[in-house]
Amino acid sequence: ARKFFVGGNWKCNGTTEEVKKIVTTLNQAEVPSHDVVEVVVSPPFVFLTLVKSLLRSDFHVAAQNCWVRKGGAFTGEVSAEMLVNLGVPWVIIGHSERRALLNESNEFVGDKVAYALSQGLKVIACVGETLEQRESGSTMSVVAAQTKAIAEKITNWDNVVLAYEPVWAIGTGKVATPAQAQEVHCELRKWLSENVGADIAASTRIIYGGSVNGANCRELAGQPDVDGFLVGGASLKPEFVDIIKSAT
Ligand code: 13P
Repeated sequence: ARKFFVGGNWKCNGTTEEVKKIVTTLNQAEVPSHDVVEVVVSPPFVFLTLVKSLLRSDFHVAAQNCWVRKGGAFTGEVSAEMLVNLGVPWVIIGHSERRALLNESNEFVGDKVAYALSQGLKVIACVGETLEQRESGSTMSVVAAQTKAIAEKITNWDNVVLAYEPVWAIGTGKVATPAQAQEVHCELRKWLSENVGADIAASTRIIYGGSVNGANCRELAGQPDVDGFLVGGASLKPEFVDIIKSAT
């Protein structure tokens, strides 16, 4: 069985005071046990140490990005080795905002996933189509190409969570319908089964992201191939706790 996974991507938000407040809310929340749901929050790099030091021990932290190879003369970057050194277990790679705004290609994302895994990090790898791509009927070819670029660079999927985040649903309030999410998740699992392996397809968690909130999470969570969520805006609010609870 695939353990439900709820990630909170704080993106480029927060002050020290706001971060402490969010963590306090999470620490006081009564949620299903770690055997039932895996919770990972992803603050900006500068708050990782603070959040890690304050956060309850059954929740974990993720970085929002890391450098594609070993650290060195790469001004402004943060290496996978540094995250490991800090005790940060997870990293988000290939978020659509980085693909679109910072021109990260499928190949670059694949290289990053492979390097992060090689250093011992667990990876939330993001894929997803734009509205234009959906309307032209290329959703599946786009997410398959993004997934293929990762699959070509790795062999072990144990430490990978695949996040399907349609770009048109991110930060727009236009959540995918449960049927739309299920369709793509099911196709992605089929793609993994045919191109990577049936065992990996069956065991890899495929989570949904894009305008998930406390009100729409339960119906999405009820879909057979939706194994959790990657939450943006709502992860900064107390309703993130309701989303965690949708695991049961
Ligand atoms: P929103 O939940 O704000 O739409 O963001 C989703 C997302 O990009 C999570 O990575």
